[in-house]
Amino acid sequence: MCLVRHTMQLNDIMKLSKSIEEIRSDFPILSTKAYGKPLVYLDNGATTQKPEQVIRVINELYRTTNANVHRGVHYLSDRVSERYEAARETVRAFINAQKKEEIIFTAGTTASINAVAFSFGERFVGKDDEIIISGMEHHANIVPWQMLCQRKSARLKVIPFSDDGILDLESFRGMLTGRTRIVAVAHASNVLGTVNPVREIVREAHSHGIPVLVDGAQAIQHGIVDVTDIGCDFYVFSGHKVYGPNGIGVLYGKEELLNEMPPYQGGGDMVASVTFEKTTYNDLPFRFEAGTTNFTGAIGMAAALDYLSALGRQAVAEREQALLARATAGLSSVGGLRIYGTAPDKVSVISFLIGGLHPYDTGMILDKMGIAVRTGTHCAQPLMERYGITGNIRASIAFYNTDEEIDALVSGVRKTVEMLA
Ligand code: PMP
Repeated sequence: MCLVRHTMQLNDIMKLSKSIEEIRSDFPILSTKAYGKPLVYLDNGATTQKPEQVIRVINELYRTTNANVHRGVHYLSDRVSERYEAARETVRAFINAQKKEEIIFTAGTTASINAVAFSFGERFVGKDDEIIISGMEHHANIVPWQMLCQRKSARLKVIPFSDDGILDLESFRGMLTGRTRIVAVAHASNVLGTVNPVREIVREAHSHGIPVLVDGAQAIQHGIVDVTDIGCDFYVFSGHKVYGPNGIGVLYGKEELLNEMPPYQGGGDMVASVTFEKTTYNDLPFRFEAGTTNFTGAIGMAAALDYLSALGRQAVAEREQALLARATAGLSSVGGLRIYGTAPDKVSVISFLIGGLHPYDTGMILDKMGIAVRTGTHCAQPLMERYGITGNIRASIAFYNTDEEIDALVSGVRKTVEMLA
């Protein structure tokens, strides 16, 4: 991932194609008042807000172009099918995949990982085989593999990480055996923010002939993701975390591997011919898109990707890095506050706890100040266990956040400490 790591001041960044005021006015929800106070939305890791450009496309689609995709010979069905396939091409170009057929629309990251765990697992995983994940995974990249291991009597192995939140690659190398069938790791941790060295992980796994799935749910929105450069076999992400609608996501898979995998779900559009005796399957990508897909979502997500591209993805990354640096410096100056995840290469996610204060109490008080953060385990219970905590507070920053909002978070945290201490 091409993230810029430095302590650049926001003023030095000239490359966004719009001013911050213009950007914020693209996102109608950002002018919300929460309890009469300006909303400070710092829960972007959970879901991102949507620009007018996305809302408008979805609205316009239902008004002008709604018909079932790939189903009819009529005018509207043709129009919507063209736009759906154009959305696939937008995704392909956005992540630099080699072929459009390698882009499968799913319901989101969770659906994509489950599809691979089931389909790849059916074909390639057997008794006593091994699957490697990391200790900092979201439940979505743990449970589907655990379920697969249960089905197949296979074994799950977990790459440990340091207190800073850095994967132990030495341990990882030692884990690769003749029985390893797949490695599945997050590109960026949703709790620690760590950007994992996925290229190196892929190179290492491939030297043993082992494919790699990269969970990009927390990476795709923060920088330039190039699946050809990473070399991974699968890359997955969700539309709602990249300024698009929810209920839509992507499974990128290398063509030769997808072609060897059985379909995950049966139904309309994924078939070539059906008789009661035998069914033959459609080609990629349709073989993995059974039933009426979320075509509105796919077209809306493509509008979101276009929005980011027009803004300048590198400039977005730089702006978020500057906001992260400001938040890190501000929060670090609060007495008794510990930041979880201090790797040198991070996306704009910052998790913390203050002394003996319960994260839920802190989150509730911040909420009353209009500041939206997430509290709890962030669907990463094993990670919390690794640190011996039951949860923490997470501020996750987007390019539309401002210096003033970061300062409001820091002063809100200070006030909370005064109130609760
Ligand atoms: N992986 C990571 C790293 C995530 O942060 C999330 C969402 N919090 C997911 C997977 C699951 O994404 P979704 O709920 O959109 O399927």
